[in-house]
Amino acid sequence: MEAMELVLLGPPGAGKGTQADHLAAHFGVPHISTGAIFRQNLADRTPLGLEARRYMEAGQLVPDEVTIGMVAARLQEPDARAGFILDGFPRNVAQAEALDRMLARSGVGLTAALLLEADRDLVMARLTGRRVCERCGATYHVEYHPPKVAGVCDVCGGPLVQRPDDRPETVARRLDVYEQETRPVVDYYRRRGLLVTVPAEGAENEVTRRIIAALHHRELEA
Ligand code: AMP
Repeated sequence: MEAMELVLLGPPGAGKGTQADHLAAHFGVPHISTGAIFRQNLADRTPLGLEARRYMEAGQLVPDEVTIGMVAARLQEPDARAGFILDGFPRNVAQAEALDRMLARSGVGLTAALLLEADRDLVMARLTGRRVCERCGATYHVEYHPPKVAGVCDVCGGPLVQRPDDRPETVARRLDVYEQETRPVVDYYRRRGLLVTVPAEGAENEVTRRIIAALHHRELEA
């Protein structure tokens, strides 16, 4: 397969982060998650992290001036030359247009925009039950993917916590923001013939297989 420049779309809780990890390993390209970059900056208490914090905790989007510059810098790094899996960006049409300009400058075109489709009940259940390891970032779910010992990471023994933005009231806000701001991005890519839609329900590896098959199918048709 040619270089893989992929954008992952879908509501929070659709499994973008998990699937992006699998796809990055499969295609040998970096997984670039704007949410993870913000969280890392917050943990390191950088000015960027402190700026992003109040938006993240309120379930709002960090302003485009901050986010777009951050992604542009990340895409310039050498490992992104072979391609990338973008997870959590673009989140609105202005970001999608900015991404097009960045890629045009380096003569790259997106391979596809992959939409992980999930209904509101599924993502509410996935997000409010999600727990992450404070030390290594591994993700669990109290019901669908519990750790061997409650509250303790299987990988590193670190404590499992709930992300502040996974509390039910913030989740509801994030889903509203998705509908208002990110849904138009789905149409943006559909109009450009780049949209590939895959249902997000089911087991993790089953969804990965579905995505790879859909991308392969698209490549054969092209
Ligand atoms: P995520 O892990 O992708 O759900 O992102 C967590 C939070 O980081 C979001 O709720 C936003 O506050 C912020 N964030 C992540 N990506 C973006 C983006 N592309 N634009 C603006 N804010 C973002």
